Amino acid sequence: MKSRMKTTRKGSDDPEVAAVYCTHGDETAGKKAVEKLLEEKPDFRKGVKFVFANEKAFQQGGRYVDTDLNRSFPGSVESSSHEERLAADMMEELQDLKILDIHETLTSPVPFALFTWSDEETIETLRSTGVEDAVEISYTPGCGINHYGGEEVEVGPKGSREAVNQAYRLLKTFLINQGVLKGETDHSNPDIYRVYGTEPKPEEDWMPASENFDSVDEGDVIAEKDSEKAVADEEFVPVLFSDTYTDTGF
Ligand SMILES: [Zn+2]
Repeated sequence: MKSRMKTTRKGSDDPEVAAVYCTHGDETAGKKAVEKLLEEKPDFRKGVKFVFANEKAFQQGGRYVDTDLNRSFPGSVESSSHEERLAADMMEELQDLKILDIHETLTSPVPFALFTWSDEETIETLRSTGVEDAVEISYTPGCGINHYGGEEVEVGPKGSREAVNQAYRLLKTFLINQGVLKGETDHSNPDIYRVYGTEPKPEEDWMPASENFDSVDEGDVIAEKDSEKAVADEEFVPVLFSDTYTDTGF
């Protein structure tokens, strides 16, 4: 069966590692980072796959065509949804690989990683990305990494050159640490956050008054709108709070 994603293979042996980009068609930093890396024609010491996930959404300039791909796993080849068919193909393409799935976000600070499995290999893959903050998001149904494993990384701000630079750095760090590219290995030891609840998304015009990954005490102001304030009713660490509340990106 011909797969619905464009996959570029490099290196001579069977890939154990994959980099995925454009899971959301409008998040293009990963695509640009992969293109930049391939233009440099580095020596690939081990096999690797670069997977252009949702090319159709990218061509249309949208996040997805029928359904959010990152809520469409495990998918089905017979579905009427483009993304559910894609998800089924990706399950096959990415089986048993160590995966870096590059997303783009408007939340800050970036970069950070998202993961759902907590086995040794996933944590090792996480450390190989070099990120300092990571969030366990296994509560999210239909997420790709919930089904094929590995990590998502978020770079930003979405649409900026800085996002592309971050994506390129993470991609190179990951490929060096996985032995695909030559270089000095350097794993990070990220702080890990677990999502145990979500704050309801406020109505328009609310601005967060707290920084992601900075802990909030009971009584602290977490968001404000004109003279109104939302106050924390317990101590917690905000993650994925966005200053636009439009799209957290993952
Ligand atoms: Zn995304």
